[in-house]
Amino acid sequence: MKICYIVAMVAEAQPFIERYGIQKVEGFFAPLPCQLYEGEVNGTTLYVVLNGQQNGSDLVGCEAATVATLSAIQRLHPDLIINSGTCGAFRAKGADIAEVYIGNGVMFHDRRVPGDDAWGTQSLGNYPVWAGSQQLAATLGMKMGKVTTGSSLDMQPCDLEMIQQHGGELKDMEGAAVGFVCTLLTTPILYVKSVTDLCDGGAETFEEFSRNLSKACEALRVANERVIDYLTKQIQGF
Ligand code: SAH
Repeated sequence: MKICYIVAMVAEAQPFIERYGIQKVEGFFAPLPCQLYEGEVNGTTLYVVLNGQQNGSDLVGCEAATVATLSAIQRLHPDLIINSGTCGAFRAKGADIAEVYIGNGVMFHDRRVPGDDAWGTQSLGNYPVWAGSQQLAATLGMKMGKVTTGSSLDMQPCDLEMIQQHGGELKDMEGAAVGFVCTLLTTPILYVKSVTDLCDGGAETFEEFSRNLSKACEALRVANERVIDYLTKQIQGF
């Protein structure tokens, strides 16, 4: 069994990489920017693929996540993709900083394409998540929410409108892109997202994100250890 994490930022993956002592495989995806780490946990191969960096900063966003996911699935053939990272969430929906959620759906909130239903449906994404996501969340006592993806850290009124209209809860910049590739290649996907900022909390998003990043990433590490434990010990196949 092979599990592959897709992670955008070094800060999000580092605590986890250190915990499992997994090793970097230099140049595996060259000349693409994504980076591979590989190890083994409870007899399961564990890959962590980072989107990589450009000009000294992490490649956040859909384009880099698409490249990383496509490359990872085609080269590594994982049984399950896990997109793990930070997100914004909504106080009005009961969210708090450093809470970790499991995704129960995934959509785009900033693709406004006029046209008939087919165009609208395609723009929104709404890709399936791994069928075992709900059971995992219930067993581990974790909250669930719908991941909603856009290309910006801030939230414009039109984004909020779309998010509210379609029940988005966990605002990130990669989830739906990863889900899109997984749908094309029929690879199941699990989302594990930790809250760095509250989109309706009144604070400036980047400042709040930066202030809570390490706390949220530590919570993400703890949650991912539980998730890995569950996946490698409690279930057979995906
Ligand atoms: N300059 C920043 C950029 C981080 S972008 C830095 O390097 O520190 C934010 C990242 O965290 C993205 O990968 C995104 O998936 C996630 N994220 C956290 N809060 C978010 C929010 N409110 N909206 C969108 N993405 C968010």
